[in-house]
Amino acid sequence: MYQPEDLDIVRKLLALIGEDPQREGLLETPMRFLKAWSEYTSGYQQNPEDILKAFEDGAESVDEMVIVRDIPLYSLCEHHLAPFFGKAHIGYVPDRRILGLSKMSRLVEVFARRLQVQERLTNQIADALDTHLQPLGVAVVIECRHMCMESRGVRHTGTATVTSALRGSVKNNPDTRREFLALIGR
Ligand SMILES: [Zn+2]
Repeated sequence: MYQPEDLDIVRKLLALIGEDPQREGLLETPMRFLKAWSEYTSGYQQNPEDILKAFEDGAESVDEMVIVRDIPLYSLCEHHLAPFFGKAHIGYVPDRRILGLSKMSRLVEVFARRLQVQERLTNQIADALDTHLQPLGVAVVIECRHMCMESRGVRHTGTATVTSALRGSVKNNPDTRREFLALIGR
C-alpha cells in the first residue's frame, strides 16, 4: 500500500539526522515507521458517531453518575510530533441512555490517535459525548506526560499536564462536580 516514494520520505529523514538509511539495521525501518504511524493516526479514519450510536437497554433506572477511570491514552503533540500519554477519566450523568464501558476507551482513541493538543483532545471527547449521548452532564479529565516538554527544552521531568472539560450539570452543579472529582480521586 506504500509507494517507493513514501519510503524515500523516511529515508530522507534518516539521512537528515545523520544516519545511513542503507545501514542493515535501518533497511526495514521506513516501512515499519509508516505502518506504526498509520496506527498512531488511525483516528482520522474513525467517526465518534459510529461508536456512540449504539446504546444499552435497561438504562431507564440509571440516574447516578457513571464514571470510567484510568482509560489509557496515547497521542502525538501536533507541534513536535512527539508522544504524549497518560490517562483519561470520564464521567456522565445519564438521561435514559448509557454507553458500554469499552466504547468509552474507543471514543478516547478516535481523538487521541490524531495530531493533538491536550486541551482540544479533552474538549472533543466531552463534546462528542454531549452531542451523541445527550446526558445531563459530562466531565472529562485528562492527565498526560508530554515528551516534548520532558525530553527537550526546559525539561520539566515527571510533571503531568492536567486538563478538564465540564458540560451540563457537572459544570453547573458544584455538588455534582465535587462528586465527580472525588470519584476520580482528585
Ligand atoms: Zn509538543
